Amino acid sequence: MISIDLGQEDLAKYPFLDEAGDYIKARDLSLVDISQPDFNRVIRRARQRVLQAIRSREVSGEMDTPEIEILSFPIALILVKAANLDHLISRYSHAEAIRVEKFLEDEREDLIVEIFRNILKINVILVTSKISFSKHNYKISIIDYLRRATRFHELQWKLINRTVDDGNVYLKSNELIRLIRQEIESKIQDKLKEMVVPQLPQSFIKTIQELSILSPPPPKLTGKVNISPDKYPPCVKAALDLLKKGENLPHYGRFLLTTYLVNIGESVDEIMSLYSRSPDFNERITKYQVEHIAGLKGGRVKYTCPSCRTLITHGFCFKTKECNKIRNPLQFGVKTNLKSNKKRK
Ligand code: SF4
Repeated sequence: MISIDLGQEDLAKYPFLDEAGDYIKARDLSLVDISQPDFNRVIRRARQRVLQAIRSREVSGEMDTPEIEILSFPIALILVKAANLDHLISRYSHAEAIRVEKFLEDEREDLIVEIFRNILKINVILVTSKISFSKHNYKISIIDYLRRATRFHELQWKLINRTVDDGNVYLKSNELIRLIRQEIESKIQDKLKEMVVPQLPQSFIKTIQELSILSPPPPKLTGKVNISPDKYPPCVKAALDLLKKGENLPHYGRFLLTTYLVNIGESVDEIMSLYSRSPDFNERITKYQVEHIAGLKGGRVKYTCPSCRTLITHGFCFKTKECNKIRNPLQFGVKTNLKSNKKRK
């Protein structure tokens, strides 16, 4: 439980908090009550939350009537769960996490600290000292930082580019929130997965059918290029070799391998099976990361392969003369194949 006083607006902004659940319980409303005309606005907002997730990947932060925001969240969860579509669960969780992220960006610091401590079990400490000529609002332990930052591929998240002192990493408000977005998404997703759909009033069924029809299926991994592993670029072969030996593949090697294989059309299952040899293999996390890179989860954007220049920066280029002047590992297979096809003609 959060140890500071929360108002109705706070609960409306963060309806996944236990306190929001207590608020609803105290109203003692059944689904039959909610399906009555008096609660039409709640049902409309719940439907709108899901539709916004489907259409714009972001649930809006409407705060005109906080009670409607609080009540519509669990109803939207029921609609999503009852639709029984994995891709809708994923898309809705992501869209709600974006909504929360936007509220957190303007949130008071004490509430941010409390939310992270109580909900996400991360000890966030408020700081006021000026470090590196820019104000850092928060610090978290290096372990907590690394657990989350390894999901990001931009150089700014590398520990070497952070302000670190006495076992803690210093972060600005927007950085802390960006770092945590994924966990809020997972929290909402877990809530949906654990949920048991109750007996639903008839009026809900029509809305659920409508949302199911409107929810687009996930993009398929199409366009398999059929490049055999002996034709992979040297950097990708090096990454595969490390995995085959059961050695730990550095973060950037993983990102390269996954983006390369996704872009030549390998399936999530095939890619997962490669990582199963990794000493720190965690099926759930790996599946999430591979699906995320493939554009099947979260923001639904398929990542492209990092450029050769970026791989050189990260120390993961193993250039041979066959690399010639290519700029991206994905060109390696293409150019090699084109050349050999020409020779055959
Ligand atoms: S030049 Fe490019 S394709 Fe070749 S090993 Fe380096 S990063 Fe890989």
